[in-house]
Amino acid sequence: MVFEGMALAGYATGAKLGILYLREEYRYLEKQLETVLLGMRGKGLLGRNIAGKEGFDYDIRIQFGAGAYVCGEESALIESCEGKRGEPRNRPPFPVQVGYLDKPTVINNVESLCSVVKILEKGAEWYKSMGTKETSGTKLLSISGDVRYPGVFEVEWGITVQEALEMSGAMNVKAVQVGGPSGRLIGPNEFHRTICYEDLPTGGAFIVIGEGRKILDVVKNFMDFFIDESCGSCAPCRYLTVILRNKLNKIMEGKGVASDLDDLVNWGKQMKIANRCGLGQSAANPILSSIENFRYEYEAKIEKGKDFDTRFDLNKAIQESSRAVGRFPQA
Ligand code: SF4
Repeated sequence: MVFEGMALAGYATGAKLGILYLREEYRYLEKQLETVLLGMRGKGLLGRNIAGKEGFDYDIRIQFGAGAYVCGEESALIESCEGKRGEPRNRPPFPVQVGYLDKPTVINNVESLCSVVKILEKGAEWYKSMGTKETSGTKLLSISGDVRYPGVFEVEWGITVQEALEMSGAMNVKAVQVGGPSGRLIGPNEFHRTICYEDLPTGGAFIVIGEGRKILDVVKNFMDFFIDESCGSCAPCRYLTVILRNKLNKIMEGKGVASDLDDLVNWGKQMKIANRCGLGQSAANPILSSIENFRYEYEAKIEKGKDFDTRFDLNKAIQESSRAVGRFPQA
């Protein structure tokens, strides 16, 4: 269905070449996908004069990336397709103006391309009969975490978070990270909300966090992920993620003070405006939304009534440098 959607996109735009880009982790799909492409070429659904239509020439090749999260960003994906390091480009120009090999390029995700095929087969009215007023159709939810039935579920837009949890066999849920690491961490008071663009939007990832987990552990895990996955070209994405994670560590070790929480919020907000692509812009989201919804877990770790680190030991902190230079503070 993805390949059919790509051929339709080729027909609509006059493109002759489509690329299916997969991260290296999906190499195991390669043989199966190549077999499907061969079959389509054999049936005249790819290649020259597709389906007997003069001048409708289109073919598809598969390209594997090295496995970077940021290559889900369209311009980084194009860089990777060109054989370069996967780093987002400055925009404008946008890919539809200057894309793959400097040619106008349309980039869509697998889900959108499949939806096009379904809409052409069954009609726009059929598609619009599902979902909500402003978010038509269906959505693939990739549900993972503390659930009995992890997997990918196709649902109509507009189901509630609670319904998605019941569908996946989740019990005793403390929080849900809606939209993956870059998304938003919500608590039970928001489980009545509906998954759609006019309420709670998501790209599809839905990570369930059970009662037994500590929110700060979960947030630290996401911050470690962003530190690993930053391509490094924007300074705040490269170093502020580390500073935020270190401050989080400080709080987790019971050494935090009230101003650390303010710093996390104020510096986290800067990430939204100081970075070039969505990865860096949303890297502080787990911190910001967990402080918004689970502030009590942070406050339980923070020294009450102190606005400075009372346990900081200056003598201990400078021991190593004192030894290196052979000079020690006078008593
Ligand atoms: S925000 Fe981060 S991942 Fe995105 S371009 Fe900048 S450094 Fe790279």
